[in-house]
Amino acid sequence: MPELRQNIITREWVVIAKERAQRPDQFVRPKKNIPPLPKYQPDCPFCIGNEHLTIRETYRLIGDEGWKVRVVMNKYPALSPEGDRVRHVDGIYRSMTGVGSHEVVIESPRHDLCPALFSVQEMQDVIATYRQRYIGLKKDRRVEAIIIFKNHGESAGTSLPHPHSQIAAMPIVPTQIRNRMEEAIRFFDEMGECVFCRTLRLELLDRHRIVFESEHFVAFIPYAALSPFHLWIFPRRHVSSFDEIFDWEMQDLALNMNTVLGKIYHGLNDPDYNYSIRSVPAQDGNREYFHWYVTIIPRISKTAGFEIGSGMYINTSVPEESAAFLRDVNLPK
Ligand SMILES: [Zn+2]
Ligand SMILES: [Zn+2]
Repeated sequence: MPELRQNIITREWVVIAKERAQRPDQFVRPKKNIPPLPKYQPDCPFCIGNEHLTIRETYRLIGDEGWKVRVVMNKYPALSPEGDRVRHVDGIYRSMTGVGSHEVVIESPRHDLCPALFSVQEMQDVIATYRQRYIGLKKDRRVEAIIIFKNHGESAGTSLPHPHSQIAAMPIVPTQIRNRMEEAIRFFDEMGECVFCRTLRLELLDRHRIVFESEHFVAFIPYAALSPFHLWIFPRRHVSSFDEIFDWEMQDLALNMNTVLGKIYHGLNDPDYNYSIRSVPAQDGNREYFHWYVTIIPRISKTAGFEIGSGMYINTSVPEESAAFLRDVNLPK
C-alpha cells in the first residue's frame, strides 16, 4: 500500500509510492557518450582570461595564480540594485519595484570542474564567498531575503557548464520562506523547541536516513522527502542565518557538501541537481525557532499534473533505501 508522509518542517504531504518504488540503483543515470569538458573554453564568459565578458564584479577571492572565486552581476538580472523599494496597490492588485541584487558566483577558474570534483579547500572558498556576499547584501535595508542557489545541468536550469551558482537578494520575503517561518513558530509555541533541532536529534537516534555526518553538520534524507535523493544538510549548532557560520564550521560544511555531492555524482552518475541555502529573512536576527540549512534536490524525477494540481508530490523511492544507497557509495581517493 502507498504511504502518505508529512514533512513536519513544511507541513507538506508526500506520497511514498512504495509499490511503484524503484530500487535506488534504478535511478543511476545511463552513461552518456559525450567528450569531457576542456579546462578552458575560449568563448566561455566565466573562464579565466575572459573576465571582460562579464559585467560588474562585486567580489574576488585572490589565489596564488590569480582569482579562485569571482562574483559578478547577472547579465540578465531578475532584480536590480538601482532605485527605491516602492509598493503600488491598484485595487486588489499589488506590485513593487524589482530592487535587490542578482549575482553569479563563478566557483572556479576552471571550466571542467563541478562541486563534486572540487577539493575540500575549493568548496570552502566557494562557501566563504557566499558568506562574504551574504554579509554585504544584508547591509542593504531594502533586502528582505537572500537566497543562495545552484543549478547544475540542463534539467536543473542551466546550459552553461562552467561551475557557477547564484545569489538573489529580494525586496520581499517569498511565500515559501514565510510558510516555513510560520510552521516553525507554531512548532516552537507548542513544543518549546526548534523543529529543526528536534528533527536532527530524532534522525541521529533513528539513523536510517543519515547519509553523512561530520563534526558540525549532518546530511540526511528527510522522512517525507519530496523526490528521490532529496537531501538536507543541517548545522548541529542552532543558528538562524547562514552568515553566522564560523570559520571552522565553513571548513566542515565544505567537507560535508563535497562528500555528499561526490556520493551523488559517483553513485548516480552525475545527475542534474539544485541546491539552495535557506535562512531566516535577512533583517531578522537570530531566532530560537528557525535554523538555517542546505537542501539538495537531484533532478531525477519529473513533476507532472498530480503535483501541479495538488501541490503534493509522489516520490517513487523509499527515503531509507536512498539513504542506505548513498551511505554505501565510496568516493575515489
Ligand atoms: Zn568556462
Ligand atoms: Zn534549531
